[in-house]
Amino acid sequence: MPELPEVETTRRKIEPLLRGRVIASVEHDAPHKYRDTHLAVGRRVQGLSRRGKYLMLQLASADAAEDDLHDLEFIVHLGMTGGFRLDSGPHTRVTLTLEPDGAGDSQQLFFHDPRRFGKMAVVRPGEYAGMPTLAAMGPEPLSEDFIEGDFVRLAREAGAVKPWLLSQKPVSGVGNIYADESLWQAQIHPAQTRLTAAEGQRLYTAIREVMAQAVDAGGSSLGNGVGNYRQHDGLSGLFQHEHHVYGRAGQPCPRCGTDIVKTVLAQRGTHFCPKCQVFEERPRS
Ligand SMILES: [Zn+2]
Repeated sequence: MPELPEVETTRRKIEPLLRGRVIASVEHDAPHKYRDTHLAVGRRVQGLSRRGKYLMLQLASADAAEDDLHDLEFIVHLGMTGGFRLDSGPHTRVTLTLEPDGAGDSQQLFFHDPRRFGKMAVVRPGEYAGMPTLAAMGPEPLSEDFIEGDFVRLAREAGAVKPWLLSQKPVSGVGNIYADESLWQAQIHPAQTRLTAAEGQRLYTAIREVMAQAVDAGGSSLGNGVGNYRQHDGLSGLFQHEHHVYGRAGQPCPRCGTDIVKTVLAQRGTHFCPKCQVFEERPRS
C-alpha cells in the first residue's frame, strides 16, 4: 500500500511530466470514483503537491501565467494499489491525455489500480467536504507545522498508539509500515495508551527520521504479488531493505536479537519486538 514516501516519490516523478501542461482529456468509466474530472479538461497544471497520501494537481485556465493562483484542485488518492505509468495495461482505470507541448508531443499518463481503491475528484481549493480524511488531516511529518509539544500533549491522552497514528489526525501520511517502524525505533508497544512525555518525544523524533529516510530512499516496494507499489517507470523503491520490524516476523530484532512478533491490531498486521516494546497498563486516572 502506498504510504507517504511512495506518494511523495510518485509526486516527484510525475511533476516534471505535468507541470505547465494542459489537460486534453480524462477518460474512465467510473464517474462515482473519479468525480468531476471533466472540469480538468482544457486547464493547465500549475503544480503538483501532496497532503498525506493525497496528490493534488493545482489547475488554472489554459492561458493563466505560471504564477497565477489556481482555482481548481485535481485530487488523487492512490488507494491500496494505485499508481501512474507511461504505458497502458489491463489494470488501467484512468487515461490522462495532455495537449501537445512546444515540441509537438502529446503525452499520456495511465492510472493503474488493480484493486480499484483509488479515488479522484476535482474540487475548488480547500473544499474537502466529500473527503473527511483529507479535511481532518494532521500536519505533514516533515514540515514545521508538525510541532513536538503539540504531538506529545495529544499522545498523553490518546488510546492505542498505532491506530491513533493510522487515523492521520495527529500527523499525516503514516501508514501501516511506517507506524510499525517508528514505534520500533521509539521502543513503544503498538497498543500502548497514554504515552509519557518521554515516549511522545521519542515517537515524534522517530516518525520524522523514519519518514525522511524513506522519502530519501524512494519509498518501499513489497514483493508479494500483483498490485505492488512501483515507481511509475517500473523502478522499485529501496526502503524495504531498511525495515527493522515490518515483514520480519520470526527474524531477530536488529537491536536485541529477540524474534520479531506479528500480531493483528485494529485489523492491521502489526510487527514489534516483544522485548524492546513492552506494553504497560495505564488506566485512566
Ligand atoms: Zn528488540
